[in-house]
Amino acid sequence: KVYKTGDFVQKALDDVTIKFKDKEFVSILGPSGCGKTTLLNILGGLDNYNEGSLVIDDVDTKNYEEKDWDKYRNDNVGFVFQHFNLIGHLTVLKNVEVSLTLSGFSKKERKEKALKALEKVGLSKHVNKLPKHLSGGEKQRVAIARAIVNEPKIILADEPTGALDSKTSVEILNILKEISNECLVVMVTHNQELAEQYSTRIIKLLDGKIISDEEKENNETNNISKTIKKHRKMPFFTALSISFKNLKTKWTRTLLTTLAGSIGIIGVALVVSVANGVTNYIEDVQRVALGNYPITISSSVKSEPSVSIYD
Ligand code: ADP
Ligand code: MG
Repeated sequence: KVYKTGDFVQKALDDVTIKFKDKEFVSILGPSGCGKTTLLNILGGLDNYNEGSLVIDDVDTKNYEEKDWDKYRNDNVGFVFQHFNLIGHLTVLKNVEVSLTLSGFSKKERKEKALKALEKVGLSKHVNKLPKHLSGGEKQRVAIARAIVNEPKIILADEPTGALDSKTSVEILNILKEISNECLVVMVTHNQELAEQYSTRIIKLLDGKIISDEEKENNETNNISKTIKKHRKMPFFTALSISFKNLKTKWTRTLLTTLAGSIGIIGVALVVSVANGVTNYIEDVQRVALGNYPITISSSVKSEPSVSIYD
């Protein structure tokens, strides 16, 4: 993977070969700028690679179209970020449910799944709170619930404990560890100690290259299963109701847009009707003015000199 900025070419990942198992807890360690986030983004289909290949369940993603990437990201990957990325004006429950709105579940199913995910991360008591009323650790647990609610095959976490104190970091790692019994967890971290304590495999990066890839010995290996999930679509009425909710939360903008749109439409209508009126007026004037000069057609006889063919 290279990034080009003008003439400058930055090799972000160079000759990286990794094979992940279905269920393991992988930590990616390395100094800032060594390509950890780039690696996660490529794994999650958020960024494209320039050379080489990414094979998911035996399918080379070189043949992926945009809709295949959408499906992969939506149904198979859950993201956890350093700064939680929660939606401030939605409750904890809604923040988790949001993740399912694209997946075609009914309202009831969404709520059930979200509550179950929140229970898994120990937040059942806080479901109706807003994110601003939670501690950092609790916010990250909401983010984890949001990442796992759609039961993805892969959880990608970019420095999930980067903004947390050590006690809270341990809580988060315990949750990620538990999740890794059911799916693949790839976590970027600066904390070598925690990585060694919790993950089953540690990959170290330096300047875009892998410098070590070590697995703990007592891990049982898992077979890779061929089960990329079936894609589900957002139902039409859910889409409609989200659109209306969105319009409602930004009602000033909606009002202004409507007003501006109306002015535009009225303006166009005005121009068209004035043009129409002027054309009609000109036709009327022409009819009246030319009525005074009627066209007269008269016949006249012209005699030709007679020509005889016997001359
Ligand atoms: P890390 O997460 O390990 O700190 P990154 O993966 O973010 O590192 O970045 C790897 C390298 O690629 C860095 O040198 C960074 O400056 C560069 N880089 C990352 N993203 C971009 C981008 N969008 N455009 C240009 N260069 C980038
Ligand atoms: Mg990074």
